[in-house]
Amino acid sequence: MNNDKIFINGLWIDSDSDNFIDVTCPSDGQVFTRIPSGNARDIDLAVNAARASLKGEWGQMVPADRGRLMLKLSALISADAENLAQIEARDTGKPMTQARADIASCARYFEFYGGAADKIHGETIPYLKEYFVSVIREPHGVTGHIIPWNYPAQMFGRTLAPALATGNATVLKPAEEACLSCLRITELANEAGFPPGAINVVTGYGTIAGAALTAHPGLDFVSFTGSPVVGTLVQTASAQFHRPCVLELGGKSPQIIFSDADFDAALPVVVAGIVQNGGQTCSAGSRVLVQRDIYDDFIGQLGARISNLRVGSHQQDLNCGPLISAKQRALVQGFVAQAEKDGLPRIAQATLDTGAPVDGFYVQPALYGPVPEGNPLAQKEVFGPILAAIPFEDEADAIRIANGTDFGLIAGVWTADGKRQMRVAKALRCGQVFVNNYGAGGGVELPFGGVKHSGHGREKGFSALHEFTVTKTIVFKHD
Ligand code: NAD
Repeated sequence: MNNDKIFINGLWIDSDSDNFIDVTCPSDGQVFTRIPSGNARDIDLAVNAARASLKGEWGQMVPADRGRLMLKLSALISADAENLAQIEARDTGKPMTQARADIASCARYFEFYGGAADKIHGETIPYLKEYFVSVIREPHGVTGHIIPWNYPAQMFGRTLAPALATGNATVLKPAEEACLSCLRITELANEAGFPPGAINVVTGYGTIAGAALTAHPGLDFVSFTGSPVVGTLVQTASAQFHRPCVLELGGKSPQIIFSDADFDAALPVVVAGIVQNGGQTCSAGSRVLVQRDIYDDFIGQLGARISNLRVGSHQQDLNCGPLISAKQRALVQGFVAQAEKDGLPRIAQATLDTGAPVDGFYVQPALYGPVPEGNPLAQKEVFGPILAAIPFEDEADAIRIANGTDFGLIAGVWTADGKRQMRVAKALRCGQVFVNNYGAGGGVELPFGGVKHSGHGREKGFSALHEFTVTKTIVFKHD
C-alpha cells in the first residue's frame, strides 16, 4: 500500500517535506507505520493539478460517465471490504464490527452519489413576456476537503462522493491521526479510472498541510469536519477569499425520554448512541434527558446496560474500543476528573476486558447523573463514551434543556404521543430529529448538518449535491 506517498495528478509521489508522521494503533499504543507530513508545496501542487483536471478529461466528462466511475469505485470498495475494515480498525482502534459497517457506508456513498451524478437538474422560471429563464447548477471548481480521524473511510465517501458527482476536482487532507483507509480507497479510485487531478490526497498535520490548503487562493470551496476551534480558523481563512465553506463541528446531542416512551426500544439505542465509536462521533447522543416521574426507573435500567458493556481492542471486537490517541484519552479523562470533583454521582461504568493490551488508549464508558444543566458534562462536547443524565419536568422543560447548549446537531425524541412528537421535533434547534429512533452517523439519504456552533451547510442526501454546486441564472430574451 502507498501509505508513505501522497497522491497528486494520478501519481503516488514523495512529499516535498521528506518528513513523516508515525502512525500508532490505539488498541496497543504501538507505532506500526508512517505517513508523509505534507507541506504547502505539496498542497500547491495538488490544487494546481485539480485546477488543470477541470480543463482536461475530468472537466470534459459527461455526468453519466462520472457516475459510472463512482459506481465502479463503490464496487471496488465492496470487493476490498474486509481488507479495508482491517486497515480502518487497526488505524482507529474501532471494533471490527464498526469498521466493517464504516466501509459498507463508504461504498454506499459512492453508490448513492454515483447514481445521482446524471440526475442533478436545474429549473426554468416563468418570467416576463418574451423571456426564457433557466437556472443551471455548476460545480464550484476546485474543492478542498479536511476530515477528522473518527470515521476516515466514511468521511472520505461523505465529502468526496457528492463533490465528484457534481464535477468538482478535489484535494483531500485527511487527519494525521488516522487516514490509512483513505489512502487505500484512493488506490481503488485510481484503479477505477478517475482521470488525473480529479482526486488528490495530501496527508499531514492540520497546522501545516491543512492550514496551507485553506489559505490557498486556488480553492473555490472548502468542506471541513472537525472541532469548532479549527472550524473558526477554516472559516476565517475562507473569508479572505469570500469563499463558501461547509462546516460540521460536532454537538451535544440530546436523547429525550418522555414518560410514555417504550423503554425496551429506547434503552439499547441510547446505549449505542454514546458507545458507538467510543463516543467519538459528532452526533453521539451524549445527553439523556429523562422525564422526572420515570427518571429513577429508566436511569436504573440504562445504568445496568452500561455496566454490562465490555471494552477492548479492535480485534477483540467488544462493545467499545479505545479512543484514538493518548491526547484524546487525556481530554476525556479531564472531563471525568472534573465530574468526580464536582461530586456528580457515577451511576454506572463499563468494564475493561482483561485481554485488552495494557498500552491501549482505553476509557471505560460511564453514566453520570443527575448532571446540573450548567455543568461541563451537560454543555461541552466530551468526544468520549461519557453520558450525562438530566431530569426534566414537562415538554417545555425538555425543549428548553435540549436547546440549552451552544450546539445544535441532532436529537432523539422518545414518546408514543403523536402530537407531542411533532411539537417537539419542530421546537428543537438542530439539523436532524429522530423520533423513536436515533441515527448517529447513519443514512446517506438524510441531509445532515448543524446550527449554532455545530456548523452550517448540509452534507448527505441531495442537499450535498446542492452544497457542492452553485446556481447560474441565464435570462434569454426572444421576440
Ligand atoms: P481538529 O479540528 O483539530 O482536526 C480535524 C481536521 O482538521 C484534521 O484533519 C486536522 O489535521 C485539521 N486541522 C487541524 N488544524 C487545522 C488548521 N489550523 N487548518 C486546517 N486544518 C486543520 O480536531 P481534533 O484535534 O482532531 O479533535 C479535537 C476535538 O474536535 C475533539 O475532541 C472533538 O470534540 C472535535 N471533533 C469533532 C469531529 C466531528 O466529527 N465533528 C471530529 C473530530 C473531532
